[in-house]
Amino acid sequence: MKHPDLLLFHGRLLTPPAEAVALGQPLSLEETADGAVVAHRGKIVDVGPTAEVLERTTAGPMTRMIDAQGRAVLPGLVDPHTHMLYAKDRMDEMELRHEGKGYLEILAAGGGILKSMRDFRAADDQELAEGLLSRLKQAVGQGTVAVEVKTGYGLSQAEEMRGLGIIDRVAKLTGLPITPTLLAAHAFPPDTGRAEYLDQCDRTATQAAKAGLAKAVDVFVEDGVFSPAEGRRLLAHARTLGLAARMHADELSPSGGAELAAELAAVSADHLTAATAEGLAQMAAAGVSAVVLPGTSFFLDRPPLMAARVREARLIAALATDSNPGSSPFVSMAWMIALAFHRNRFTWPEALTMATINAAHVLGRDRELGSLTVGKRCSLLVLDEADPRVLVYRPDQAAPWAVVESGRVLIWQGAPTEEVMAWTVS
Ligand SMILES: [Zn+2]
Repeated sequence: MKHPDLLLFHGRLLTPPAEAVALGQPLSLEETADGAVVAHRGKIVDVGPTAEVLERTTAGPMTRMIDAQGRAVLPGLVDPHTHMLYAKDRMDEMELRHEGKGYLEILAAGGGILKSMRDFRAADDQELAEGLLSRLKQAVGQGTVAVEVKTGYGLSQAEEMRGLGIIDRVAKLTGLPITPTLLAAHAFPPDTGRAEYLDQCDRTATQAAKAGLAKAVDVFVEDGVFSPAEGRRLLAHARTLGLAARMHADELSPSGGAELAAELAAVSADHLTAATAEGLAQMAAAGVSAVVLPGTSFFLDRPPLMAARVREARLIAALATDSNPGSSPFVSMAWMIALAFHRNRFTWPEALTMATINAAHVLGRDRELGSLTVGKRCSLLVLDEADPRVLVYRPDQAAPWAVVESGRVLIWQGAPTEEVMAWTVS
C-alpha cells in the first residue's frame, strides 16, 4: 500500500453509524478506546484500534503523524442550515425585541429580513465574501467541517444570483464542502409585486440550476410570508430542475408547513417549533428530515422543539445553527449540541448524531461525511480532552485541539494553521 498522508493514533474515537438514524430508539456512539485513523488523498483508508492499524500501515517520510494522546476524536461537525452570507449585524433589532416588539411586527416596519436586504444590496462582492469567509473561519475554529449556505437577502433575480456567485467563490477559495441553497423565497421584496416576485423566484431557480450554482431551493412557508400554495408551486418547479426541496416550516405558527414538506417529499423541513404532531408524523412517513435549530429558539426566547416530539414521530433529525444576523448570530455547532441537550432535552449521543451523520444526510452528503468510516472524507474534530461530553458540559471551554477537513489540518493545537490564515478574498 502507498504511504498514507495522515496517521492519527492513540485517540479515543467516537462515531455515530455510517448512515442517518431516525430518533426514537436507544442510540449510542461506537467507541474505540485507543484508536487510529489513516487518511490518503483526503479520505479515510483505515480506522480501528491503534495496535491493529499500525500493523497494517507503513508511514512514509511525507506521512503526517498525529499522536492524539488519548484525546476524544469525533467526526467533524456538519452545519446543514445557515444564512451566513449577509452584510451587517442586526443588534439594534435585538434590543427592540427585548422591549417586546414581535418578529413579524419588526418585518412589517421594514426591519428584519428587509433591513438585511438593503444592507446586502448596498454591499459590494468583496465585502460580502469577506463576511462569509470570516464566519466560516470561526465555524471551522469550533469544529465545523461542512456547511450549507443560503442566499435570501438579495430578493431579486440579479441579487440572488450574485449571492450564489459569492458562495461559489468562497467555496472554491477555502476548498470546504459548502452546499449552496437558493432562498429567493425568504420574504417578499417591497419593490416587486407578489405575483411578479413568484415568477422571478422560478426564473432564478432555473438560472441557478443551469449555472450549477445551487443544490437546493428553500422557501419560508409561514403565515404572513409564503403560503403553502406558493411554497408548493416554487418547490415543485425546483424539483423539475433536479434541485432538492427544503423548507422553513412552522416556526411561528402551525401553517401547514410540515404537512406540505411531507406531501412534496422534501429533503427537509426546518424549525418546526409550532408543527403539529400529525405534520411531524407525516414527515417521517414521507422520509423528510427535521432540522432542529436550538440557537434560534434560544436567541428569540421561544419554546424549543422538544426531543420527545421528535422521538415520538421517529424522525431523522439534524441540528444546525441557522446562522443569521437577526435570530441566531451563532456559528458554533458545538454550542448547538449543548443547547440541544440542555433545552431541547436530546441525549448526548442523539445530539452528536444530529450534528454529524444526520446533518450530512440533509445535505445529501451522508456517503462522504458524518462518521469515522472508511471511504468517507477524513474530517475530524479532536477535542483537548478525553471525554467528549465536555461539548455539552462546558461548551465555552471545549474549543478543538485539532480540526481536520478531507485530510487537511485546519486547526492545530487550538489555532488556525497557515492554510486557513491564507484564506483571503483578493
Ligand atoms: Zn433559516
